[in-house]
Formats: sequence, structure tokens, C-alpha cells
Amino acid sequence: MQRRYIPAVVLFVTLLLLLAGLGARITAVPAFTYAAAKEIYLTFDDGPSTVVTGHILDTLKRENVKATFFVVGDRVAGREEVLKRIFEEGHTIGVHSQTHRYGEIYSSADALMKDADACAETIEKITGVKPHVYRFPGGGEHPKSEKRLREAGYRIVGWNAVCGDEEIRGADAETLCREAVKTSAGKSPVVLLMHDSAPHKATAEALPLIIERFRAEGYTFLSY
Ligand SMILES: [Zn+2]
Repeated sequence: MQRRYIPAVVLFVTLLLLLAGLGARITAVPAFTYAAAKEIYLTFDDGPSTVVTGHILDTLKRENVKATFFVVGDRVAGREEVLKRIFEEGHTIGVHSQTHRYGEIYSSADALMKDADACAETIEKITGVKPHVYRFPGGGEHPKSEKRLREAGYRIVGWNAVCGDEEIRGADAETLCREAVKTSAGKSPVVLLMHDSAPHKATAEALPLIIERFRAEGYTFLSY
């Protein structure tokens, strides 16, 4: 009878040893250590803008990193060249919203789809490519709309880390980089939320620091 319990005891002891080992590693070095493959998606919402998006594209080009831009369709007028540049430099352009007006977008699943379609059309008209990724304005869970978006062929992308450019008022580049590292700790893949709309000059300044820091920690940069 007792022999039956031996495998269970061995399993229990092995688990204990594994947990103890993991615990020791976490204690020794707090951030970055226990995610197996280190991957990060840099994502930029609410653009395009003239100055900030251009500055971000310069950095991405210099560092040879590809990112994902969730654009607002209404902000493309007059900045068609910026959108074209994002596309031509090999980044992914996703649908965020045509208007970014929550009241309209979230009034019904139909309204949201209409808004997404309008944004997708704006993107396709300029790049010639139909976007395949979508991010909800303001985030959150919207089951009915999610179903519709998936049926329309979109991959829905949220985020699990932030640089704090919307959360921390007046944050400078160092603060944004610190916040990105802090909120990414132990995660992989990291999906980092940033903004390239006009007020976010500090985000553009933080980007080289963020890339340097994550690269030094062994992260690979991915786009959708
Ligand atoms: Zn947004």
C-alpha cells in the first residue's frame, strides 16, 4: 500500500525544492530574472503627431527596433506623410479609433465597429494595407465588441505595462523609463503602453533610455 505514496512524496519534495530555488532567485535580483524568454512589444497610442511621432521614428530607426502604432484616424489628416513613414519604416499600424470619443464608440457594438472601420479605411487609403491589430481606446473589457472585432479578422491587443506618460503628470524621461521597468518586472512578453500624441515629448525623450535598459536586460523587441 505505502509504495503507492512514494511518487507523490517525490513530486512534493521536487516541487518544494523548485519553489525554494525560485524564491532565492527572486530575492537575489528583484526585476527581470524569472521570465524565461524576454520579449517586449513597444506600442504607441493616440498618434500620429508631427513632432513626437517623428522623434520616436528617428530613435527606432537608429536602434533598429520595430514597434506598433495604434493610430487615431481623425489625427491623420494633414499628417499623411507621418503615417506613411511609420509604414515604410517597417512598423505595424493598428486601429485605435477614428475619433477617440468614448461616448460615441462605446454606445453600442455597432458604433464601435463603425468607428474601427473608419479608422481602418483611413489607414488603408494611405498605406495600401488593411490593418490587423486593434486596441480599445481606454482599454477595458468589451466582450460583444471583442467578438465582432475577431470576426472581422482583428487581433485585439491590450497592455500589461506602462511608461506612465498618461498616469504621472509632468514626468520626465528618467521617470518614464523607471516606470516602464517597474511595471514590466517579471513579465514576458511585456506589452508596453506609450503615447506618441503631441503632448508626449517626454515619451520621445524616454524611448532611447527604455530601449537601452531593456536591451541590457536581454529583451528582444517585437512588433505585431
Ligand atoms: Zn488612446
